[in-house]
Amino acid sequence: MSKDPSTDPTPYAVTNEPSRRSFLILSGAVAATAAVGPATPAVGAPVGGLGQFSSYPFSLGVASGDPLNDSVILWTRLAPQPLVIGSGMPNQPVPVHWQVADDEAFTTIVREGETFALPENNHSVHVDVRGLQPDRWYFYRFRCGSELSPVGRTRTLPALGASVASFTVSQMSCQNWQTGYFTAYRYMAQDGIDLGLHLGDYIYEGSITAVAPRDGATVPDEIRDPCQSVDQYRLRYSLYKTDPDLQAAHAAFPWAVIRDDHEVSNDYRGGVDQGPQQLARRAAGYKAWWENMPTRCAPPVGPDQRIYRRFAVGSLAQFDLLDSRQYRTADNDPLVSKLGNEQEAWLIDGINSYDTTWHLLAMGQQLGGVATSSPTRNRIYQAYYDRNVSPVILAGDLHWTLVSDALLALPDPTSPIVGTQFIGTSITSTGDGPGSQATKDGWLKYPWVKYADGYRGYLRTVITPTGLYSTQRDVQFVTQPNAPVWDAQRFYIAAGKPGVQLV
Ligand code: FE
Ligand code: CA
Repeated sequence: MSKDPSTDPTPYAVTNEPSRRSFLILSGAVAATAAVGPATPAVGAPVGGLGQFSSYPFSLGVASGDPLNDSVILWTRLAPQPLVIGSGMPNQPVPVHWQVADDEAFTTIVREGETFALPENNHSVHVDVRGLQPDRWYFYRFRCGSELSPVGRTRTLPALGASVASFTVSQMSCQNWQTGYFTAYRYMAQDGIDLGLHLGDYIYEGSITAVAPRDGATVPDEIRDPCQSVDQYRLRYSLYKTDPDLQAAHAAFPWAVIRDDHEVSNDYRGGVDQGPQQLARRAAGYKAWWENMPTRCAPPVGPDQRIYRRFAVGSLAQFDLLDSRQYRTADNDPLVSKLGNEQEAWLIDGINSYDTTWHLLAMGQQLGGVATSSPTRNRIYQAYYDRNVSPVILAGDLHWTLVSDALLALPDPTSPIVGTQFIGTSITSTGDGPGSQATKDGWLKYPWVKYADGYRGYLRTVITPTGLYSTQRDVQFVTQPNAPVWDAQRFYIAAGKPGVQLV
């Protein structure tokens, strides 16, 4: 039975209104402007609606995300000087106008309004546009003062329960800026994607040392140290988001984004890494993540932010997005959940939230090893199996493409096939393929692993009522620009019939 999305406990709450403190600042700014007359904007800074910037404020592009059937989140961040703390913005709220149109020329505006880019959010903007038509593409843009943003393209989801002929998603993760070019995104932007699923490692928090692949790129010293403070994480996002191919993919289709570990620190386990410094770092990482993502998730409160959530694409597919780091404790303790008890219960209770043909379960890191059981994963697979639901599991983190039958009881190869797991490779992390042959042979010796590939790239998946068709797209290299891309392998899963075929 389909649930009304309004009863879903997902923490959909986006606040763009200035806080009480900001209102006071804003009122002060407006009053000050009024007192000295309207024609005296400060040089190099926007004041009220009279925007004058030292340089183009939409240097980080635009993005959209977390669509519903009547709504989508629009994102931008004002950053005339993205690589300095504060991004060259004044310490005051700045009004931003947004528009959604049926056409790229913006002759038919269907929604528009005003919001504020707030200094406490590093002048990021999240607009929850409501009242849109289901299953429709739109164009959007922002204006601040006299400056217009690039135009983005986004879409709503089909209505709940509606039949859907096909829906195409891309699966991507792991984009270490210093190891190469984001060429995969240039192809993805033109690849007919309805929704991008980013499974984490959007940034890497470690030190930036050699940037040989991006020779000539400007990386100020304050961006090179490992991220600890919110300003350091913010600068790291700025650096990554200056990439034109990444901006193109954000502008081309809506994204649904979750985190893995490097949005905070390598291999952190939020359930046990509870020291004051660890929590402060997590709070900083989560805050900068939220500011920079086109997400519907409510902003973090200190080191806590719920990002696990679900949505449905008509009667075609239910998506469950997990957080595999924030609540993690011991990896293999049968008495605790790797996902946290609350998230695990939410997932299992909601396996049948929507009456759909497909059930996709996305996470940063897979819930166990490729060849080892994990108590958490065993419980979750058993729950799917008991409900006769065959999940398609999407994960990142590994920097290899690994496509496997998901077995009820690893490593017993005779145990039932519950579903299929697609571990996606990286956009750039670990550098050029093809990876080590010995590592590849190591994966392929397990009979449930059907495919292994150590090139960089992304997975494009077309979901239809009768079958799911995936294509692994590999880029030849990332250490130089303009790599060619090719289809490395196609995969097929028949609806209602667990098990993946190479086709
Ligand atoms: Fe990674
Ligand atoms: Ca990772």
